[in-house]
Amino acid sequence: MQQTVTTALPQIKTITRPMPNATQGRVRRTREDIETVRANNPIEQVIARYVVLRPSGRRLLGNCPFHNDPTPSLVVYAHNQSFYCFGCDVGGDVFKFVQLFEKLSFAEALQRLGSITPTNRPVSRVLPVSVNTLPRVELSEEHFTLLTAATEVYHAAIFTQPRVLEYLAKRRIDLDMIRYHRIGYVTGNDLAKYFRFRGWDPEIANDLGLIGPRGEYFRQRIVIPEVREGRAIYLVGRATQKYQRAKYLGLPGAPKPLYGLERVRGSAEVFLCEGPLDWLTLVQWGYPAIALLGSHLKQDQASEIADAERVFIVTDSDEPGRRSARRLAEMFGKRARIVPPLPNAKDVNELAMHPRAHETFSELVQQARSGLH
Ligand SMILES: [Zn+2]
Repeated sequence: MQQTVTTALPQIKTITRPMPNATQGRVRRTREDIETVRANNPIEQVIARYVVLRPSGRRLLGNCPFHNDPTPSLVVYAHNQSFYCFGCDVGGDVFKFVQLFEKLSFAEALQRLGSITPTNRPVSRVLPVSVNTLPRVELSEEHFTLLTAATEVYHAAIFTQPRVLEYLAKRRIDLDMIRYHRIGYVTGNDLAKYFRFRGWDPEIANDLGLIGPRGEYFRQRIVIPEVREGRAIYLVGRATQKYQRAKYLGLPGAPKPLYGLERVRGSAEVFLCEGPLDWLTLVQWGYPAIALLGSHLKQDQASEIADAERVFIVTDSDEPGRRSARRLAEMFGKRARIVPPLPNAKDVNELAMHPRAHETFSELVQQARSGLH
């Protein structure tokens, strides 16, 4: 006879919470609340409820609702969540748009967007577009010329920033390295000025993602360019302020290259690391190093170092770093050598701040080379 087994399943309760509404009176909103509402309301989806948007390069274009606009002049930038009208000079973030369109105060716009949940969200008139699915602008000669000029503007600005130079000195990146690699600093108001001076179209800077309606993309960051044949092809920006949540930002409008590729061409040994500061440290120590700017190597990037007989993998000492070392080693098979975890340092740049750092590192490289590790 079959026995019936009854398993006590936990009861799934449906909790219905009253929606906050405008009559609840004044609610003190924290910075976090504002950012949550912002994150739940991608600007391209919100504006698309009011205006028909079509993709154009990395941006979306529409007829501006704030002036008589047959052109269309309204540009929506998903990558930095802002909009700008080239016809009537209005711009801002998602809250600003709703404020202007609905004639609301900031608090009211926040309330309005905050009350839109995924279940009652109106269907937008364009498909949701994320920055990753936006088609990239084909970069032209003009773009590279401009990026190279921007790099020089930023490089000049770093010498007016004693605190930034001091920080880099502490990270053991010396003035020669700063000069040689055209490392810069973005104050936030040098580039636009320079563009006006040269009479250049700010649109090009928008294509690259250097300037948006909210100002310069890399403001208050140290920028490290990738230079090929004397031209800058990419920039990565490192945070210098506590409010900057992303430690590193890459240039939105250009494909991410392998840093330092030019210098390792034809080299029998290549040192592969993750971050730009680790890379600068390795280069300063004289290693033929390249940086991933992340932990993933794409197959077509791997083929760029197909000639190297040995690939030394230098990742962070923590568990995610070790995992990524093993994953990268798999891609290179017999050519891979994993450099053992760095003693008392999270990464190579941190190791550089210790005494005898270079010697310590070269001992680890010896171990990796002899296959002891
Ligand atoms: Zn307008």
